[in-house]
Amino acid sequence: MTTIVLSSTVTVRAQMRVQSENVDLEHWHRLGCLAWVHADQHGHARMATGQAGRELCLSVNQVTDAIAVARRRGWLDPASTARCLVLPGCANNPCEEQHR
Ligand SMILES: [Zn+2]
Repeated sequence: MTTIVLSSTVTVRAQMRVQSENVDLEHWHRLGCLAWVHADQHGHARMATGQAGRELCLSVNQVTDAIAVARRRGWLDPASTARCLVLPGCANNPCEEQHR
């Protein structure tokens, strides 16, 4: 089990929130930042239905595409879905969602 430990978690989350709202970044990058905003101690960012799209002002298709690109680029674990954005290397950690 991997536990995410950051020395200044609040600062990192705040900065990731700012970057998730940065429309100069590509959708996949903003989504990757959003995962860090919401990630629990096991690296899972569970999302309510449509939450990622609402927070990023993206359509369902744009979120789907952003997840695929973020997975390919290593910003999200391949197990990530719209219901749970998983930080890289954290797929085998506890989560209520079924990933595989
Ligand atoms: Zn999960």
